[in-house]
Amino acid sequence: MTDTTTPAMDPVCGMTVDPDKAHAAGLTSEYNGQTYFFCGKGCKLDFEEDQAKYLDPGYKPSMEM
Ligand SMILES: [Zn+2]
Repeated sequence: MTDTTTPAMDPVCGMTVDPDKAHAAGLTSEYNGQTYFFCGKGCKLDFEEDQAKYLDPGYKPSMEM
């Protein structure tokens, strides 16, 4: 298998994101040496506001605001 585009998960809403598209659209964020991908600007901004909240194992990704 030569699958170079492993789908990524938006840590904020739980949506599956195509890393290539997210990268092209600038919807990525780096935190602790890891790159995260987002479905949209809202999720990226939410994440950058409070990374720890969204990376907490107890956080359940959801579309709710
Ligand atoms: Zn999202």
